[in-house]
Amino acid sequence: MTGRGHRWTGVGAAFMAAALARAFHLPELVAAAVAAGSTTLPDWVEMPFYRRDAKTGMRVRVGALIPHRTITHWPPLWLGVIYWGVHAGGFVGSMAIGAAIGAIVHILGDAPNPMGIPWLVPTKRLKLGKKGWWRSGEHEIMMTLSFATAGFVSWQLVSMWNMS
Ligand SMILES: [Zn+2]
Repeated sequence: MTGRGHRWTGVGAAFMAAALARAFHLPELVAAAVAAGSTTLPDWVEMPFYRRDAKTGMRVRVGALIPHRTITHWPPLWLGVIYWGVHAGGFVGSMAIGAAIGAIVHILGDAPNPMGIPWLVPTKRLKLGKKGWWRSGEHEIMMTLSFATAGFVSWQLVSMWNMS
């Protein structure tokens, strides 16, 4: 998924984080706001460095301190952060949940690409199917809408469940 696509999925991530925060009676607006801004987190925490292409003037990623799509794209790490956040509670716990949900939505956005993501072992990326489902940049609107729908539905479900 491209950077622009990842930013669009912030809407879905915000609703998912709000749903989770609400389920555990944590400040949901905090979780939602952090999640909305965290859907690019797994890429920039790798501390990438760029070079400006002389021909096009565009920034090209030439490397990073942390190898691309390894530990920062490892779902168990972020699930652990959610677990920690739920237990820590309060403002900080809510922020942790938001950041982790944003990161997981990012990882799910990357997962269908041929490069894949490290589902189980942080250094071993696995692709879906034989060569991935689609390339980065494809089906971004569909994914954005799916995340938004899933997020909104889960938020509604938790609201209903909390009232009963
Ligand atoms: Zn990524």
